[in-house]
Amino acid sequence: MTILLSTLNARYTHASLGLRYLLANMGALREQTVLMEFVIGAKTTEVVERLLAKKPRIVGFGVYIWNVEETTRVVAMLKRVAPEVTVVLGGPEVSYETDKQEIVRLADYTVTGWGDVSFPKLCGEILHGPKPLMKVHAGVQPPMADIALPYALYSEEDIAHRTIYVEASRGCPFKCEFCLSSLDKTAWPFNLDAFLAEMEALYQRGARLFKFVDRTFNLNVKTSQRIMQFFLDKLAAAPNDPVYAHFELVPDHLPEALKATIAQFPPGALQFEIGIQSFNPEVQTLVSRRQDNAKAADNIRWLHAHSHAHLHVDLIAGLPGEDVASFARGFDHLVSLGPHEIQFGILKRLRGTPIIRHTEPFGMVFDPYPPYTVLATDRIDFATMQRLVRFARYWDLVANSGRFAHTVNTLLGEAPFANFMAFSDWMYTRTDATHRIALDRLAKLVQEWLQLRGMSEEAAKALLASDYAGNVDKASSKPKGEQKQAAPERQVRHLAA
Ligand code: SF4
Repeated sequence: MTILLSTLNARYTHASLGLRYLLANMGALREQTVLMEFVIGAKTTEVVERLLAKKPRIVGFGVYIWNVEETTRVVAMLKRVAPEVTVVLGGPEVSYETDKQEIVRLADYTVTGWGDVSFPKLCGEILHGPKPLMKVHAGVQPPMADIALPYALYSEEDIAHRTIYVEASRGCPFKCEFCLSSLDKTAWPFNLDAFLAEMEALYQRGARLFKFVDRTFNLNVKTSQRIMQFFLDKLAAAPNDPVYAHFELVPDHLPEALKATIAQFPPGALQFEIGIQSFNPEVQTLVSRRQDNAKAADNIRWLHAHSHAHLHVDLIAGLPGEDVASFARGFDHLVSLGPHEIQFGILKRLRGTPIIRHTEPFGMVFDPYPPYTVLATDRIDFATMQRLVRFARYWDLVANSGRFAHTVNTLLGEAPFANFMAFSDWMYTRTDATHRIALDRLAKLVQEWLQLRGMSEEAAKALLASDYAGNVDKASSKPKGEQKQAAPERQVRHLAA
């Protein structure tokens, strides 16, 4: 009598932390529970065939915004060919608006919210009775100490080839209306000693790339420092076998003590994902985002100047009250602060988030299909929004990729947003594509654009030759240095620039 825990991950390298939590907390049912992960893009028939080959009695699916469409097809097929198998859903995508979702209709049960104790309980009732009457079960949030930590369930293969996701806390005390975490009442920490013992075990087993999914890693500075010190100690003990850690920060909270710790990290060991989202105070008020913009800017500037952390900063286009001009001002301001990457996202209407209260007053039109991206607002029409979408894509290819680290400064000049938008519009007219542009072709297009803007062929070629992109077919394009790196390839390129 097997229980399968399954999900479709966005990539093979993304090992599902959620499924491992469920497995770790199955209690008496643990021995009969098996984890089966797939990657989106897999054939529905193959997924269903492989699941059924295990002869499951129950299949639990982790449903997320990136896999809901494919998982819906899997559940539909599974229930047709094997109606006797009980399907249970969980995950953020099915935690809200359950009455509107086809996948919920197709499944037998759905657990909303936290599944750590509610999923095993439901499985016990399905297997041994009494048969659960309700289709949708609100997940119970247990005390943090009652949740078994899942890290021992990362396999040797996970450790060798996949990103190791970890969390020292769950939840967020802030209320940004576009974000699912705004529905949490606060942030709840796990016991720090127990957590660090698990990190030690992972490290001893060979894990070197740790990605913290804590929504606000720097909320409690003492905790942040202890965690960082753990990694500093590892770096000091084995500098030639470095560890790499990724944290999400709130930008306006960086006390001196934390700065002093951050400053000790060597290059290639630390990444911060920093949410700015918007620099426009009116927009921030509208979406209930509390952020001291001056402090946030100072902190990013400080991190750029005094730390070796790789800085990945998030901005969102399409928020209520934001027009292109105000977004452009925020973008230019952010570029001036010097982060290595700007993640330029288009607003998504995540199920359950309070952002919908602005739909009518701000004429917000959202794609009805995942990932529910905003298509137009009263200030940004559909055609302009599509230009922004392409900007974001080309920005990722050219700026964030680190492949044009020197050239991009010339491309941006004194007016980064306007200049890159002009480049983006030209690129689209020239290629009619935003994907599948080979790097050598992209480098030639960038050179062509620079020449169109008045640069001599010689100068444009020389500029590109100073970048990874201009050397793609030469051995010298490889990152400098022989030292073993735990940092992901993209960060290494920025480092080598
Ligand atoms: S955007 Fe960040 S700070 Fe705001 S609610 Fe979400 S996780 Fe918290």
